[in-house]
Amino acid sequence: GDIADGIVRRVEAVGDGVNEALFEPVIRLGVTGLSRAGKTVFITSLVANLMNRERMPGLVPAAEGRILSAYLQPQPDDHVPRFDYETHLAAMTGPNPHWPDSTRAVSELRLSFRIKPGGLLAGVRSPRTVHLDIVDYPGEWLLDLSLLDLDYESWCEVALGKARARDEARAFLSAMEAADAAESYEELKAQALSGAFTDYLISAREAGYSDCTPGRFLLPGELAGSPLLTFAPLPKPDKTPRASLWREFERRFEAYKSRVVKPFFRDHFARIDRQVVLVDVLGAIHAGPAALEDLRGAMAEILAAFKPGRNAFLASLILGRRVEKILFAATKADHLHQVQHKALTGITQALLREAKDRAEFSGAETRSMSIAALRATTEERLTHDGQTLDCVRGRLLDSGKAAAFYPGALPSDPTRLLKPARDGAETWLDADYGIMRFAPAEITLDPGEGPPHIRLDRAADFLIGDRL
Ligand code: GDP
Repeated sequence: GDIADGIVRRVEAVGDGVNEALFEPVIRLGVTGLSRAGKTVFITSLVANLMNRERMPGLVPAAEGRILSAYLQPQPDDHVPRFDYETHLAAMTGPNPHWPDSTRAVSELRLSFRIKPGGLLAGVRSPRTVHLDIVDYPGEWLLDLSLLDLDYESWCEVALGKARARDEARAFLSAMEAADAAESYEELKAQALSGAFTDYLISAREAGYSDCTPGRFLLPGELAGSPLLTFAPLPKPDKTPRASLWREFERRFEAYKSRVVKPFFRDHFARIDRQVVLVDVLGAIHAGPAALEDLRGAMAEILAAFKPGRNAFLASLILGRRVEKILFAATKADHLHQVQHKALTGITQALLREAKDRAEFSGAETRSMSIAALRATTEERLTHDGQTLDCVRGRLLDSGKAAAFYPGALPSDPTRLLKPARDGAETWLDADYGIMRFAPAEITLDPGEGPPHIRLDRAADFLIGDRL
């Protein structure tokens, strides 16, 4: 009768709801890069510009008017910190604009879209929902993947080799030489060594070096001060008695791998569909050839994480599923006039070429771009001593003064930068670049000045456009 019909209809309706939710496609977009690469600014600006799509002509589904709405929703993973979008946006666009706090750990945000179908069936089909789960995580954590291949002894060799080549490690190296790894373990000695090691990693990072593993030593989060982060590389002594410093550090190194590195790859990395790797190429060029060479090595390590079969543990997690698209984006391109953007993209490509060839991303589509998630400058052409300089104008963060700056030149041929001449005579970005720390001032856009970002729309189109 009616009641039974009603029940059947109710059940069908509930079933439809469940099915709809189950079949709503989800794109998991990973956003990574070494610290200060621009992850926080990128995600904040991406989300703001996806919610208000006026300035996203390069995102094809937006240009076609098929994105009916975009709105924030509760994220699927309750145990992961939420990306603090509102606070970051308020920092960047509020009355006294400043840069937001940078990424310190993994966080997540869900943006959902109502999409009008395109193509032949556009008129027949009803709008559908697509979820974009953005996962922000430090690139330093990806570098830790290489630790899984090493035992403590081999890691010590690698880490000490790196330290000996860096001036920043001097204090750590003398503390290390004074220590006796065969002696019985004492917590205060362990802390002193690990503190010196951490200080070295932090100053190496500040000096522009990229590979400063273990990643959590730089960004410890809630693990700060725990034994998991209280170890350091030591030369292997002839004897390693039980309860020696060596044995304890060895145990902690293994614990770091199993308690820190593996869970990150399992819980976050293995579930990503699309990935953007943000790279502060300009910063590394400015820091000099050693920093740039180090960045190249770090990128190769980061890329290796995306290579199927790179690591047995990772392969067992991923089980044939893989990242479909990877975008390498050189950030902060607003430090350069657009005439130099092509050179920046070329350098980014060259920087990654070798790593890309080695990683053989069967199946993954990759692209390099130069972007600025938040343009802090406008362009200006000045004549100085009869010479034309393509400058950018912005307001300096420290002094609040607005002026036009010339950052210096990039080589048009990237090989000149990556293989510096023997005599080392060539330097790049050696004009004003060093003082160009701009405030995220709201730029009043004159016609023809373009959107308040550089190629963020194209980046979004490459990453998710085909799924909307
Ligand atoms: P994260 O550590 O990767 O999260 O890096 P952030 O997103 O916090 O960015 C680090 C710093 O880079 C910011 O504080 C800004 O000074 C600068 N930055 C990032 N994106 C841009 C950009 O699009 N333009 C400019 N001019 N500076 C940027």
